[in-house]
Amino acid sequence: MNRSGELIWTEDPPFAQNASHAVDNAQLRRNVRNATATIRQRRAGLVAETPDWQELRHAGAAIKDDVLHHLDRYLEEFEKNATARGAHVHWATDAQEASAITADLINQTGHTEVIKVKSMATQEIGLVEALAARGTTAHETDLAELILQLAHDKPSHIVVPALHRNRAEIRRIFLDHMPDPPENLTDDPHALAEAARLHLRRLFLTTKVAISGANFAIAETGGLLVAESEGNGRMCLTLPETLISVVGIEKLIPRFRDLEVFLQLLPRSATGERMNPYNTIWTGVTENDGPQEVHIVLLDNGRTRALKDDTGRQALRCIRCAACLNVCPVYERTGGHAYGATYPGPIGAILTPLMVGVEHAPQLPFASSLCGACYEVCPVEIDIPTVLVKLRHDAVKAKPHKTEDAIFEAARTAMSGRRRWTAALKSARLMRFIRHAAPPPLSRWTRTRDLPNPPAEPFRDWWRKR
Ligand code: SF4
Repeated sequence: MNRSGELIWTEDPPFAQNASHAVDNAQLRRNVRNATATIRQRRAGLVAETPDWQELRHAGAAIKDDVLHHLDRYLEEFEKNATARGAHVHWATDAQEASAITADLINQTGHTEVIKVKSMATQEIGLVEALAARGTTAHETDLAELILQLAHDKPSHIVVPALHRNRAEIRRIFLDHMPDPPENLTDDPHALAEAARLHLRRLFLTTKVAISGANFAIAETGGLLVAESEGNGRMCLTLPETLISVVGIEKLIPRFRDLEVFLQLLPRSATGERMNPYNTIWTGVTENDGPQEVHIVLLDNGRTRALKDDTGRQALRCIRCAACLNVCPVYERTGGHAYGATYPGPIGAILTPLMVGVEHAPQLPFASSLCGACYEVCPVEIDIPTVLVKLRHDAVKAKPHKTEDAIFEAARTAMSGRRRWTAALKSARLMRFIRHAAPPPLSRWTRTRDLPNPPAEPFRDWWRKR
């Protein structure tokens, strides 16, 4: 990671190599397929029962576009209102700055242990690792994040981070890594949840500092909202004395009433629920109620770079629902780790290159079949396929590919003259003897595709005869 705002764990090794390992893992493919199919089905049922779904999508996209067009104004409005309600607002250009601010704030409290709400922004900046390097232990409290932290594993999905793990694996992780696992733990989901609950409850009741992200930041009031399913987030947001929230600058919405739109779009798209079980909103400090020291770190880390891209800017509308992951045929086969970045799936394939620069993630825009399923489900109408094509163009421009250029130049020459084209078609008939596989280096392409067999008699010859 560097000061130009690179996201942590960028593609090294690159996507193609990661993906080819992932597709060899039958267990991983089965876990991902089962989990995404379940959420997909639930979401489809709820969308079908919402008659104004398309209007909600238009409204969500329009509100977010308004924010992106007037980001400076809304950020200042948010800062003014949050400060007036007793919060402290900090500005971070990149991951290092955000981590340093957070670490200093924790140091000032005198504590070395913090509890943490699941948050993509803190993952993006590698906050847990950065705090560990400064002597602070951050305990994940979301069940899935806890599983991954215990297993020293990484999230593979935006909403269901441990979806690549099944319950037998989770039981093993608890037994091997939890400091106090219950005796006779089974892989029954209730037993696993109870084991996590007992472990976490002790942390909630003793830890004085919490870290969170936010799903939405409301400019009009200076409030933040976290939507979650377990209630563990609410424990972190209400019990400690100090709360530090790291929030991407694109999380803003102008007005409180805009939540009406997003609190319908988000749960239906993310977990296939009509409503998140827990929506916690806090606005600054309330005397004798919740944390008495509230800090908000507003994070750029490549977002203003993405904002400058006329086509790609729409990616900043993303509300991290992961619906695009759940319908993506590439994600379903590779899982999330193959993308090598914090944001996997179709949104990751555009957001990562937009934020770090396509030259640092040149393979990601190609990690798609361009089937368009991601666009159809996106609750804020991000046209991911169009952005992918644009980024592919940028990637090729950034690093021209000599062999590909030569092939396209040959095709251009052949197609720009009738005689040349007829001759090319005749020689293409020789390909019939190659059947379905081409010689190297083209064999890399035909290894997973059938080469179309040219007809024995081209149309022009057939036409001339008649
Ligand atoms: S791009 Fe759209 S579908 Fe994908 S995570 Fe973001 S909001 Fe959800």
